[in-house]
Amino acid sequence: MSDTKVYLLDGGSLVLDGYHVYWNRGPGGEVRFPVYSILVEHAEGRFLIDTGFDYDHVMKVLPFEKPIQSKDQTIPGALALLGLEPKDIDVVVNSHFHFDHCGGNKYFPHAKKICHKSEVPQACNPQPFEHLGYSDLSFSLEAAEARGATEQIMEGTTRANSTFEGIDGDVELAKGVKLISTPGHSIGHYSLMVNFGKRKPILFTIDAAYTQKSLETLCQAAFHIDPVAGVESMHRVRKLAEDNDAELMYSHDMENFKTYQTGTRFYG
Ligand SMILES: [Zn+2]
Repeated sequence: MSDTKVYLLDGGSLVLDGYHVYWNRGPGGEVRFPVYSILVEHAEGRFLIDTGFDYDHVMKVLPFEKPIQSKDQTIPGALALLGLEPKDIDVVVNSHFHFDHCGGNKYFPHAKKICHKSEVPQACNPQPFEHLGYSDLSFSLEAAEARGATEQIMEGTTRANSTFEGIDGDVELAKGVKLISTPGHSIGHYSLMVNFGKRKPILFTIDAAYTQKSLETLCQAAFHIDPVAGVESMHRVRKLAEDNDAELMYSHDMENFKTYQTGTRFYG
């Protein structure tokens, strides 16, 4: 475990209104926020948690989110900075299936895939207010067919990508690497805790708290399925961080992201 390393794969950025980032609280106005994926290099394998957004999908379906993504910020590009290719990844985990967390799944037909057991059914049949969140369906033949989005099915990859191991509750992915059940933002949302040999643990809130301010004020994003569960999950994240003396890292916090180590730099 002492050689566990965590790399953050910078996936570019998107824009939301402040009232979406901080539900019913704001302030309003454009907020540009980062999107990144988490690569855990572990004695038991290479685990990739989330796969960012697909630029073409966002331009087609949600152009108002004004995506910015350089070549190095695509999944293959970010892996190439580390001398890796998609085939070097053993396991892909999706914290949930919002489009900015699964857009790069298509690069990993060979990898084992894990998600909460309720997330694929939810992507197949989302609540009316979840349609744009669950709009990139290229990760699942079942979801693309259920939603009538067959134009998103990619010959040769979508089918190969569609088998997920469905999990529930907290799950240890590998020794010291734990998925933390934090529903609310989505039905089966997961946060991630990584323990290291030498440094303090890191608790990735993922979308249970977009930003440090979100967690401090218990103000979640406007995108959620159960806001009360979302608040409970934020309490849970706070307590876990405190009990484990963990460093908190947020999914969509530009101020903090500027201080995070990306590219070839790593945590470990
Ligand atoms: Zn989300």
